[in-house]
Amino acid sequence: MGTPKWKIKGITDDFTECGCCGRRGLKRTVALMPLDADGNEDGTAEDVAYYGTSCAAIALGWTQRKVSDAARAAQAQQNQRDAHARRMISLYAPLEFAPIRERARMFYSRNRSLRHTGVKASEEVAKRLAEARATLADTTTGPARASRIEDFRRYRVIFTSDRHIHQVLSVPDDEAKRQEQESAAARRAQQIRGSVLVVAALDADSAHDVAYSYEAAPEWLEQGWKAAHV
Ligand SMILES: [Zn+2]
Repeated sequence: MGTPKWKIKGITDDFTECGCCGRRGLKRTVALMPLDADGNEDGTAEDVAYYGTSCAAIALGWTQRKVSDAARAAQAQQNQRDAHARRMISLYAPLEFAPIRERARMFYSRNRSLRHTGVKASEEVAKRLAEARATLADTTTGPARASRIEDFRRYRVIFTSDRHIHQVLSVPDDEAKRQEQESAAARRAQQIRGSVLVVAALDADSAHDVAYSYEAAPEWLEQGWKAAHV
């Protein structure tokens, strides 16, 4: 068998018609990126083909089982890249226009080993933000994901007494429910001798990271949220 012509990028239920045989009403399709003669990806999201599992199996010369397993694994990887991208945006987007020393403090607080190595924090932050935005804008296996500060939500984080995260709660939009949550969180924090912090982030996972890194740039993390939600 020669070099495969496709690479499995993931699995999606957004496309339900097989791009090979035209069969419709499929539960999901496999996203296939064309490869060039050297086996490198040869295209962007627009060039991706969506095949049903059986047609993908024929195109790759694989069993359907192998196609399904590879598609699930590729999708899991994509989901992990998305989660990482949301963390990077939640941490660094509010500091994007902050003074260089603010970005440096945040970056080195999270990457202590890179201190004094000549790695420039401002360049690294810009690079990570650009990568994160590209990741979330990639439409290979579904619509673009939220990636702007305007998309941040509020999370109430309860810390234990030794500054580990005990609980992360999404802050409700409704004022009465919000106050109820605030009181309940304060009571819980008191019981465990912990503390409460409200942060803004793209999702609850990212809120963990923002909460742990909050002290590196509290004003900027707060201002970024406020500027986007006036
Ligand atoms: Zn087909």
